[in-house]
Amino acid sequence: VRPDGALVDTPAPGIYLYPGHVETVVHGLGQALTTLLGTDLQRSLRTPPVIARSIIERAGYHESFPHLLGRVTTQAGSGMPAESDLVLLPAGCYCVYPLYADTRLTSATELSVEATCFRQEGSAEMGRLRSFRMREFVWIGPGEQCLSWRDRCLSAVRGWLTDLGLTTETAVASDPFFGAGSRLIRQLQIEQGLKIEILATVGKGQIQAVASGNYHKDQFGRLFAIFDHTGNITHSACLAFGYERLVLALIHRHGDDPNRWPGRVRDMLRLGALA
Ligand code: AMP
Ligand code: ZN
Repeated sequence: VRPDGALVDTPAPGIYLYPGHVETVVHGLGQALTTLLGTDLQRSLRTPPVIARSIIERAGYHESFPHLLGRVTTQAGSGMPAESDLVLLPAGCYCVYPLYADTRLTSATELSVEATCFRQEGSAEMGRLRSFRMREFVWIGPGEQCLSWRDRCLSAVRGWLTDLGLTTETAVASDPFFGAGSRLIRQLQIEQGLKIEILATVGKGQIQAVASGNYHKDQFGRLFAIFDHTGNITHSACLAFGYERLVLALIHRHGDDPNRWPGRVRDMLRLGALA
């Protein structure tokens, strides 16, 4: 068990078991996020931890982040082991774009996705997992509205995190969904503020992004041929939360026994009466 008692180590770095009290908090966070951001959802989906390899290839993830992608090998019949048609899901929103591929949306669309994600991270410091859970809200529609949706959400989320007792800061980050790119392209993306992270302390001296707001411009609209009601390639944005990091930040702030967290925080996460 880690020093803070939250995540239970396994022999594989970055892979943990979750005790019941952590699950209770994850559940409470999920419900609270639905209340905060999920009032206007067309769909609310849960994805399995794998996704069609063809989708990840269409999105270009395998070229931008070959080192993070977990591939699946299977052996059919008496044949040789071969790469399967699936890969491990690296982020929740990849399962959304194919739902609208080659279509024209009649109005802006907002969805929620709960995902178990895998990334072959190079280190396993506090809060950097290889298998972790992500909640995403995805907004698909015209560009200016994407940006204002994202920024409205980010400010609501910061207020919510403050109410939960967490001290946060925001940082403009360079951007995974466009790939590694050249330094110049990365710099341009930073200047355009396409990816904004909300950072919190998740362990002693360890600050991590607990949420990220991404404006993809027309990247996924183009790759998946999604059009908006005016017939233009659609833009998209997503807001992603890392459940384990949120739990770690709460435990770092309020202690490892959720029964002893402040009443207000317990109420916000509907943790129920003290056991
Ligand atoms: P990203 O797609 O990198 O912006 O990730 C979305 C959110 O998932 C981040 O804001 C984190 O809260 C969470 N996350 C990303 N990578 C990890 C990881 N290796 N371990 C735990 N949570 C992560
Ligand atoms: Zn996303």
